[in-house]
Amino acid sequence: MVPYILAIDAGTTSSRAIVFDKDTKKIGLGQFEFPQYFPKSSWVEHNPNEIWASQHKAITSALKSAKIQPGAISAIGITNQRETTIVWDRLTGEPIYNAIVWQDRRTSDFCSSFSEASINQVAEKTGLIVDAYFSASKIRWILKHVEGAQDRANRGELSFGTVDSWLIYKLTGGAKHITDASNASRTMLYNIHSGMWDKELCDLFEIPVSMLPEVVNSSGHLGSTDQDVFGAEIPISGIAGDQQSALFGQLCFSAGEAKNTYGTGCFAMTNTGSQIVNSKNKMLSTVAWQLNGTRTYALEGSVYVAGSLIQWLRDGLGFFDQSADVEKLALKEGENGGITIIPALTGLGAPHWDSYARGAIMGITRGTNTSHIAYAALEAIALSTADVLEAMAKDLGQPLKSIRVDGGASANNTLMQIQSNLLNCPVIRPFETESTALGAALLAGLGTGIWKSIHELKKLAEIDDTFTPKDGSYTALRNQWKKGIQASKGWASPENYE
Ligand code: ADP
Repeated sequence: MVPYILAIDAGTTSSRAIVFDKDTKKIGLGQFEFPQYFPKSSWVEHNPNEIWASQHKAITSALKSAKIQPGAISAIGITNQRETTIVWDRLTGEPIYNAIVWQDRRTSDFCSSFSEASINQVAEKTGLIVDAYFSASKIRWILKHVEGAQDRANRGELSFGTVDSWLIYKLTGGAKHITDASNASRTMLYNIHSGMWDKELCDLFEIPVSMLPEVVNSSGHLGSTDQDVFGAEIPISGIAGDQQSALFGQLCFSAGEAKNTYGTGCFAMTNTGSQIVNSKNKMLSTVAWQLNGTRTYALEGSVYVAGSLIQWLRDGLGFFDQSADVEKLALKEGENGGITIIPALTGLGAPHWDSYARGAIMGITRGTNTSHIAYAALEAIALSTADVLEAMAKDLGQPLKSIRVDGGASANNTLMQIQSNLLNCPVIRPFETESTALGAALLAGLGTGIWKSIHELKKLAEIDDTFTPKDGSYTALRNQWKKGIQASKGWASPENYE
């Protein structure tokens, strides 16, 4: 039998399913968007039943487009939007509240109330900074705000899961309540040193350990789909959070290997092997994956605004109709005309971490035109990424040798060339830039023995293009960028309105 692998890619705005063959060729795709709910400013919710329904539809449609029956799938790999928090009734399987999405900021005030001692304790145990982004404060919010939830949780009647756990619960007909170590490491309740839920952290957030899923390997025989779901029992054999899955899909298996995903935002990750790096530069330490009980770690840094800056030029300023057209416009002038864009449209992420920062275009003259702005926007994406990757390199004590890239905006050759110049290292773009789904498929195939070892996977890499640094001085650009970042910080803070 030809082994086909189904990758389930549960994203923030859409549910996707991709069928790969054993040469990692894509042979079927299904994708459906699901509704986003914004009940209040800075709140973002999904309906867990809509996530499941759209995922089910995506899987059915992927199988149809691949022209295969469910029984022909020999392994399922799941990758998912991380941190998003779902709490459901253990008996009925009904969620007690909507999913609180990773972008949701409702628990910011609670997170700002932490003492320095608690912040250090959390960082030491989990590798994370205390922030509303992670699951812990979201679970706490649900337990405090849904009537009776805290008591029910204390009595062991409720289950918590990130989207991977929720989908596996549904796929297995309620038989499995599990998550893998990469997803667990994003909850702020999981001790990345011991590989276990941390009782002290659970107490800090008043979350009973009994509601947390069992933490399993990212690859292996993890469960099987219930016969009633797709009419076949299919092994579930790969799980990883989306960024970790992309790192795996980019075949960054060794310490020092890094990837950057250019999507709506940018997500950079560097494999640190068996070492948990205690970041001095505000990067996060996280579990990359766990294979046969052994955890591989990574450093992570995210930039909030990347491709969305291009969307803003497209939709907000009406510069072009399609994001890809930014390159043509930028190349009309082929330079920034002396301007710098600070893309802090929703604050600044790593390594600056200022939620009050706001965007700016600086250095405008009578000569500034749309092409300069388009070019400066590409530079802004590359400069944001360079800040993150250089902070990581400092933490690691060695310069990056190269980075591998993926995501929608990695198709932009001009952006990739600017990135290579700024980082002064090669930028490698694989042929298959669906690294996230590919990572889940590789973990799943490894888990059922389609591939015997990660060394065998290395042979699957096909490189599309490598961008090498061009000589030039980027000092003036870097200096202006630094000045711009400083000026943008704190712009929207309450004291600026007094
Ligand atoms: P996500 O997974 O976050 O939705 P994708 O990986 O699909 O993102 O990438 C889409 C993003 O990339 C959009 O924000 C879009 O504006 C941007 N984008 C797509 N193509 C290009 C391009 N050729 N140049 C620059 N940006 C692009």
